[in-house]
Amino acid sequence: MSRIQQLTPAVVNKIAAGEVIERPASVVKEMLENSVDALATRIEVEVAAGGSELIRITDDGEGIHPDDALLTISSHATSKIRSAEDLFSVHTMGFRGEALASIAEVSQFSLRSRQAENPRGFELEVNGGQLSEPKPCGCPVGTTIEVRNLFCNTPVRRKFLKTPATEMGHITEQFTRIALANSRLHLSLRHNRKVIYDLPATEKMIDRLELFYGAELAEKLIWVESEQEGVRLWGYVAHPSQNKSTAKGQYLFLNGRWIQDRSLNHALREAYRGLLMVGRYPITFLFMEVPAESVDVNVHPTKSEVRFRDSQILYRQLLSTLRKKFLSVDLDGRLNVEG
Ligand code: ADP
Ligand code: MG
Repeated sequence: MSRIQQLTPAVVNKIAAGEVIERPASVVKEMLENSVDALATRIEVEVAAGGSELIRITDDGEGIHPDDALLTISSHATSKIRSAEDLFSVHTMGFRGEALASIAEVSQFSLRSRQAENPRGFELEVNGGQLSEPKPCGCPVGTTIEVRNLFCNTPVRRKFLKTPATEMGHITEQFTRIALANSRLHLSLRHNRKVIYDLPATEKMIDRLELFYGAELAEKLIWVESEQEGVRLWGYVAHPSQNKSTAKGQYLFLNGRWIQDRSLNHALREAYRGLLMVGRYPITFLFMEVPAESVDVNVHPTKSEVRFRDSQILYRQLLSTLRKKFLSVDLDGRLNVEG
């Protein structure tokens, strides 16, 4: 064996990209989260050929200071945390400072951004890891990021991309998760110039759910809400007559982030026990808010798995809130009354 050597930043970024950026949908997820963190009120997503040719995201958020241009694509550079302690009080979707560095390493990447205080913005291009000097440019307040030919310099990854329709399915799912958790945002998604979604900002979650799933399901949604030991739970669960053959209709968000959690899924199954046929899964849109320090989001590169200080509290609360609701409502009456 040869001697140990430090890897170059380019190699490090490619390795990181392998973890965070699995497919076009990962790019969409990371960029949507950045736009949410930048307090955008409007986000447009444009995709061509299932994201393998083009992903463009435009937001009207805070923008980036020109002096930070290069830091946006440096790995482990973030505006969101400062110290190790901050890891236990994360209030933003991002904090690892890895996404843009990874994406820029494996695509033809361009970023334009302007902050309201500055009359001019800047533009930055990275072509398969090759950076061109950032230059000033005129652009609206906010940020536009364009990712072309994802995995252009990692041919193995590129070869593993599925058909545009399949990749688009994954993108739509990521878009849906963000859209459900942020109904106050105006969000749109276009594929090959065709509008897939154009969702106006709304105060009421039910309006957004209706746009996604239709009036028929919306009418069968039951509002639930509870607060115990500093944990707030709210959202909609579908009447048992509305169910699925997979768990894909079970949406669970923790502190604004879509999560996957075996234990909480089990609580859902228990709550619906006796109300659903064997092999059927409930449809739920549930939100939980817990103090940031009682959850560790730094478990998984995509943050879809989290670790709770006390997962039993959430389990019990979820189960009891739903059971109580099912016992108290007339499951044949009108149910979807929010608040
Ligand atoms: P992270 O989100 O973990 O900080 P990213 O690589 O996703 O890491 O982004 C790096 C930095 O670039 C962010 O911390 C943020 O300051 C800036 N940034 C990225 N996208 C946007 C955006 N749409 N609007 C404003 N700033 C952004
Ligand atoms: Mg980010």
